[in-house]
Parts: sequence; C-alpha cells; structure tokens
Amino acid sequence: MVQKSETIWFDGKQVPWDEANVHVLTHTLHYGVGVFEGIRAYKCADGGSAVFRLREHMQRLLNSAKILRMVIPYTVDQLVDAVEETLKRNKLAEGYIRPLSFVGAGAMGVYPGDNPVQTIIATWPWGAYLGAEALEHGIRVKTSSFCRHHVNAMMTKAKACGNYVNSVLAKMEAKADGYDEGLMLDTQGYVSEATGENIFIVRGKLIKTTPLTSVLDGITRNSLITLARELGYEVVEQQFTRDELYIADEAFFCGTAAELTPIREVDLRVIGQGTAGPVTKHLQGEYFKAVKGENPAYAHWLHRYTI
Ligand code: PMP
Repeated sequence: MVQKSETIWFDGKQVPWDEANVHVLTHTLHYGVGVFEGIRAYKCADGGSAVFRLREHMQRLLNSAKILRMVIPYTVDQLVDAVEETLKRNKLAEGYIRPLSFVGAGAMGVYPGDNPVQTIIATWPWGAYLGAEALEHGIRVKTSSFCRHHVNAMMTKAKACGNYVNSVLAKMEAKADGYDEGLMLDTQGYVSEATGENIFIVRGKLIKTTPLTSVLDGITRNSLITLARELGYEVVEQQFTRDELYIADEAFFCGTAAELTPIREVDLRVIGQGTAGPVTKHLQGEYFKAVKGENPAYAHWLHRYTI
C-alpha cells in the first residue's frame, strides 16, 4: 500500500489525499491517453533535500503531452514550483513524486473532444523499488513473452499511461514465473528495456546500452552515460541481442524508481559472478553520491529545498 500523504496538488490546489478523486467516466480511465512522471527526492548530507533532475522530468512530461496532442496548461517553472510546494506541504524530506496529466470526463468515445486536461502531483515516501537486497546483490530476470512496443503502434518517447499495459503484462508474467523483473525485446528481437527500467551491459572495458529506438529516454540512463564517461569508461548506445546479455561480465537496470539495480541472472544464466560487479558497484555509488548532493560536479542536476 502507498503510504498516504496529507495532500495532493490537483489543478493548482492542495487537495486532501482522500478527496483527490475523479469521475468514473474520466476519459483516460477508458482509453489510456494520459502522461506521467516518476521523480525522486533525496535527503542530503547537509540536512537539506534535493529533487533529482526535476526540470528534465517536467520537460519530459510536457514532451509526452505534445506527442499525445494533450495541452497541459502549465509551464515547466510552474510545475517545478508545484512539486516543491507539495513536498513541503507533506513534510517530505525524501520520497517519490508522481505528476500525472489526464483527459477528464466529458465526451465519451475515443475522440477526446474538448474534455479538460487535468493534472495532479502526488508525493509519498518510497524505499527501494525492487528491495534493498536487490540494490546490493541484484535480481533474477526473465525475457518476457511480450515484445516492447513497435515504434509506430505506440509512442515510445512518451511516458504515456496506455503504454504501461505492456509493462504490467510483462511484470505480472515475470512475477508469476518466480522472477523479479521481465526484460522485453523489441519487435526486431533485440534487447529493449524492462517494465520500468533501461538496461546496460558491461563487457571488458566497454559499457553498452540500447539506442533510443524502442525505449523511453530515461533520465537515469542519460545521467549514468554522463557519469560513466566522466569516470573514464567508454559507453556506446548500440543494439544487442539477448545472448550478448547472457555472456556480459555485468548487467544492470536503471530508472528513477529502481535506481541502479544489478542483474545477477537472466533466463537461468548467471551473469558474471552472480552478484553486483565492480563497474556496476562503482556507478551505483557515484549515482547515489550525485543524487544526494555529495558530488559538487552534479549540483546542477539538483533542485534543492528544505522542508
Ligand atoms: N523505461 C521505462 C519503460 C520506464 O517506465 C522508466 C521509468 N520512468 C524508465 C525506462 C527509466 O526512466 P527514468 O530513468 O527517467 O526514470
């Protein structure tokens, strides 16, 4: 269960958590045209807090809306202010932030007509998405029987509500089969992404991640490419197959919720030593330093606030 906060920002107002409701004929509930974000705030060593790459997340929200031809009536600056206000109102020094814009009730049928576009920002405390043990020692993964979206069937650059039917199906299948996460291939058969994470593999000195074809342009992925290159690693964005993943020295998933989660097994093949490898550990450590304000080189990624 999500731990309740006091209020949710709803179309510009702080509304008590239990009163932030919608009508059952909300268009998005029926047809899935909505866009959302997942953002984290972290407590910093100096006693303050920081939201990680807040502006980039809000820009991606507006970009997702543009792709879906939804008009969100707020600027990035207004959305950034709304997040800070909501975190402070809920006294959250760290936690998860979920902005969502959806098509409200009005006309029915697939054409959204003049139905209002409504926006909420919910915040709540949230620990490690796949568990603390997963962050330390890694997870067991299965290639999903579901492909990631064909790029002309769904808009893969949009973090769109309806896209996640695919993720939910893959996640349920993986869990039912006794795995922690499902890995999806693209419609050509190359490795794409997981249900809510991008993927990286390490072989020798080379770090590889999938190109931005069928995958979400993850902000964690982007941050790790920058961090790794500045630490002297060579990083390429290149298609790879599932058997290249099987023989990788190391592999990991990344995303705002999952942070940097090592992969210890894929389709019953042990990856590397079967635990978090040295490059994975190095990048994970540097990522946590950056998000918690412990590396001044990445201060520009942080939206600082105090509750
Ligand atoms: N792919 C998918 C399908 C996702 O849902 C997410 C989580 N937003 C990611 C990748 C990682 O994106 P980010 O690092 O921006 O959270």
